[in-house]
This record gives sequence, structure tokens and C-alpha cells, in this order.
Amino acid sequence: MVVILPCQSNEELNALVMEAKKQTKHGKVADYIPALMKANRDDLSVAIYHQDGNCYSAGDIEQKITLQSISKVLTLALALMDCGEDGVFQKVGYEPTGDPFNSIIKLETNRSAKPLNPMINAGALAVTHLIKGESVEERLQRILEFIRDLAGHSEISYSKEVATSEFETAYLNRSLSYYMKQDGIIDEDVEQLLDLYTKQCAIEMDCLDLSKIGLVFAMDGIDPVREKRIIPAEVARLCKTFMVTCGMYNASGEFAVRVGIPAKSGVSGGIMGSIRNRFGIGIFGPSLDQQGNSIGGVKLLKMMSEKYNLSIF
Ligand code: GLN
Repeated sequence: MVVILPCQSNEELNALVMEAKKQTKHGKVADYIPALMKANRDDLSVAIYHQDGNCYSAGDIEQKITLQSISKVLTLALALMDCGEDGVFQKVGYEPTGDPFNSIIKLETNRSAKPLNPMINAGALAVTHLIKGESVEERLQRILEFIRDLAGHSEISYSKEVATSEFETAYLNRSLSYYMKQDGIIDEDVEQLLDLYTKQCAIEMDCLDLSKIGLVFAMDGIDPVREKRIIPAEVARLCKTFMVTCGMYNASGEFAVRVGIPAKSGVSGGIMGSIRNRFGIGIFGPSLDQQGNSIGGVKLLKMMSEKYNLSIF
């Protein structure tokens, strides 16, 4: 088999970004979280972090983005480390939904009452509920410390502006939470859970940090540069499986066919990708398609997958 060495220069990545940028005019920036409306629709940037520590990038990679749904993979990893697989999957299922990420329908129609998977909002709220700690502040600090460790960056924090903006308008996430409280999936105060969840979603970093976290998952839980295990291998594998089956919302099936890279997106326009034993990818492109995925980011990953033969299938 011929191994094609991918993305070994900034120029090469830049050419792909320029091509993918042509898509941004076909999408729109998320507006249901008011603070996210400030993003510039035409931005598109990418960082690739190789396992030997070499890094390549294109676009304005110093720009900070909030993780939004990308944080769901990271809290899933922490909850699995806190409560074990049985503890987590008592509260949430393993199956894709085919519905939008914020849909409430399956909470009513699925007989087990559990949210179907940890990558939709209901499932992610149930997972955040499991994060251990005496107070919201302590649980938030645990999430932040874990994410700082994953990225090897001690300054990572959250955007108060984005967290407040989401908290004040999160009517649908409140509905999902009350529904789950009624069914015994969560038993904490809903406002307290929303406070923690919106701060978790507002954790900010740049594409380089995101690509470093993608690399840790690509290396089955190890940061190869610091030679440090951060996540048990089984936990990393489980998280990556959810990235494949549910990571791109209700476009995960088509993304698996056309791109075939374990990836997780967020409505801020971020995408984190993991190429096993090779590299991590961090993308920021706030123009979103109908399912809420970065339209330029998906195009970029598709081109990278074709050019460098990256599909796992
Ligand atoms: N904070 C967002 C929400 O709960 C995350 C959703 C997303 O990125 N798709 O609505």
C-alpha cells in the first residue's frame, strides 16, 4: 500500500483552505446563541498537529473559538473516567438518532427514556450531570483541568460572554433537562446543570489547541509529544466511535461515506478530527450548513480525505 504523507507544508494546506472557502457563502453563522452571531462568516482556518510534534496551519489560527458540541466528546471521556462505562450508559444510549442535535422527540418516543447518545444535547446534558464535584465551580474546574491537560495548555478558560448568552436563551436545553428530570435520568437542579453545561460549551481555544486534543484521541489517549497518557485507551476508542457514528449530528452517515474521519463539530464552526497514529486536526469555519456543521470545514476535510487517503473505511 502506498502511504501518502499528508499536509507537510503550510502552502499545501493554504491551497486547500482557499478552495474550501468558496463554500462559506452558502452557509450561515449560528444565531440561536446571540454571542455567536458576531463571527465572520468567511473565516476558515485549520491546524494539523502531527505525532512527531510538527504542526502546519492555514488561516487565522490564533482566533479563539468556543467548543460548543465538541466539548461533548471531552466530557464523555471525563464521565467515563469518573463513573465507568456502566455508570455512563445507565443514563444514555449508544445509538445515532437521525434527528437534529437539539431535538426532544426521542425522549418521548424512545421507550427506555434515556437520550439515545451522548453527542446530542439531551445526552450531553445527562453526561455533564455525571461529572463529579461538590459544586458547579468544582465540576467546571475539573472539566477545565482535563481539557488543559489534553491540549497541554494551562491558560485555557471559558468565554463568560458566550456562556451567559447561551444560559439566558437556553430554553430548549432547559426543556430537555426538565424532561429528563421527570424520567429520573438527572436529579440535580436544572438551572445548576445549565450553568455548568453552558460554561463547558463556552470553553475557548484556538485551532492549534483543538488539533492537539485531536491528536491525543488519534494516539488512543496518549500525548505523544509529552509522552503522557491522559485518557485510558478504551475510553479514547469509545469516544472516537461516537465521533464516527454521531459526531457530525444528523449528517454523520453521509460524512462517514464521503470523508470517513472520526470528527466532532460544534455550532461555533469548530471541527476536531483524529487520524489514527498520525495527526490531529483543528478547524474553525463559522459558516454552517443546514445540519449545523461548518460548511467550509466539511469541504476541507473531504478534500483532505481524498487527497491523502484518510478515510478509515
Ligand atoms: N451549546 C450548544 C447547545 O447546546 C451546543 C450545540 C452544538 O454545538 N451543536 O445548543
